[in-house]
Amino acid sequence: MPDNVFPSRHPLVAHKLALLRSVETKPKKFRELVREISILLAYEATTDLALELIPVTTPMGQTTGQTLKQDIGLVPILRAGLGMVEGIWEMVPGAEVWHIGLKRNERTLEPMQYYASKPVEPRVQLCLILDPMLATGGSASAACSLLKSWGVRRIKYIGLIAAPEGIQRLQTDHPDVPIHVGAVDDHLNEIGYIVPGLGDAGDRQFGTA
Ligand code: URA
Repeated sequence: MPDNVFPSRHPLVAHKLALLRSVETKPKKFRELVREISILLAYEATTDLALELIPVTTPMGQTTGQTLKQDIGLVPILRAGLGMVEGIWEMVPGAEVWHIGLKRNERTLEPMQYYASKPVEPRVQLCLILDPMLATGGSASAACSLLKSWGVRRIKYIGLIAAPEGIQRLQTDHPDVPIHVGAVDDHLNEIGYIVPGLGDAGDRQFGTA
């Protein structure tokens, strides 16, 4: 595995992924699992965040605490990335949430941008792209290019399941973007779905299958 790719080795992630993949798992449970796995993956993806010292007054006296030094942006790729936001946002309540709407052209499998929302003058120092399935890598790569065009210097990708093809594409296009995923699967099928994967992550969350 390349240095910049981090498939989770956490047993809780593996356990929850098995439930998530199951065809028996209904949308409500599926959404809960997406939320929980996203928190665990964000925990792993944020171990290198910079801290600064701050004075803290406890009921017993003075001490020194630590606070996050950088402002963070959570950037779900619509629509399937939406379910990854809330749990991570609870862990990092000061984060801004930006949105990028990318739709796959089902014939070429290349992404088309149909929506983007960010502050007029972005201030964050780190963006976490949230996108459950790293399939062809086209959307993830396009999202990285867009964020860079907005001036974002540091980006990490967090996804639930990746195909080797998607990892390869994102690494080639954006070698500076670390990839944090729950699992790396076998391959992409001819219509761009990850095998064994979990099917369509958007449909399974929103009950539109
Ligand atoms: N998007 C999905 O939701 N699932 C896949 O397997 C690939 C892309």
